[in-house]
Amino acid sequence: MTIIKIPPEHPRAESLRIREKLVEHYHKGVVATAGLIAHGRGEAFDYMLGEKTTKPALNAIKAAAATLLTAEKPVISVNGNTAALVAEEIVRLANVAKAKIEVNLFYRSLERELKIKELLEKAGADEVLGVGEDASAKIPELQSERRRVDPRGILVADVVLVPLEDGDRTEALVRMGKKVIAIDLNPLSRTAQKATITIVDNVVRATPKLVETAEKLKQDLKKCHEILLNFDNKKNLAESITLIKERLSRLAEKGEYLTLEDEKHEL
Ligand code: ATP
Ligand code: MG
Repeated sequence: MTIIKIPPEHPRAESLRIREKLVEHYHKGVVATAGLIAHGRGEAFDYMLGEKTTKPALNAIKAAAATLLTAEKPVISVNGNTAALVAEEIVRLANVAKAKIEVNLFYRSLERELKIKELLEKAGADEVLGVGEDASAKIPELQSERRRVDPRGILVADVVLVPLEDGDRTEALVRMGKKVIAIDLNPLSRTAQKATITIVDNVVRATPKLVETAEKLKQDLKKCHEILLNFDNKKNLAESITLIKERLSRLAEKGEYLTLEDEKHEL
């Protein structure tokens, strides 16, 4: 396996580092082949968003933190890409929100489940649900292996955080009456459209912000309820799409790449 040395001054150094991390974890058996393709799809949208956490993303992060903190049985669903990119932040979020962590893969294999569990435990997780025989319950309507969930976790959860989830499963979880919080760079994906709260941001930026926000809000449940009363996911998601549209229009008009300095005024 060759790991490319990324010069720190490279204009796309951060994006290249994320890619390398995924390739490394692909070779370790944590990330699935399709996970690499999914990342490329996400990157394309991140480019259009300007590779930063936007205002609608911040609003959704606040609503997500408030939902997790006021939940009875919150669960964080983790796949290969999420484990490779933000294992430590997931553990911190689980601690602050008193949430369970469950491995939930589109392409299940015991080997990969165990590798993800190990990675999460190394990052400090005490308990990781959904591995092997533990995923003995089924989500109705879904086909075969994609249906399997842990009866102590996602099956009985009232709130499920699904970074980088598939549309079918998001829809099925919502139909089961769960509140689904999605982190997805593509505001047009079925996941983004069907989730209860949609954070249109890179999981690498959104997860640490979610931890920070939850830590700030955890003593103030009144504020959590206030945030949720004022949050409208459809409207917020529409703002993300408008933001892309307006940014692309400005880029086309200027005929040059906007610098971050130019864009400060946008937020
Ligand atoms: P859907 O099934 O929701 O219609 P899809 O089939 O295009 O979408 P999936 O492979 O099922 O996509 O889910 C992966 C999603 O994760 C994609 O929408 C992609 O944009 C998003 N994604 C990939 N990498 C990241 C990342 N680092 N941060 C946030 N989102 C990401
Ligand atoms: Mg899909």
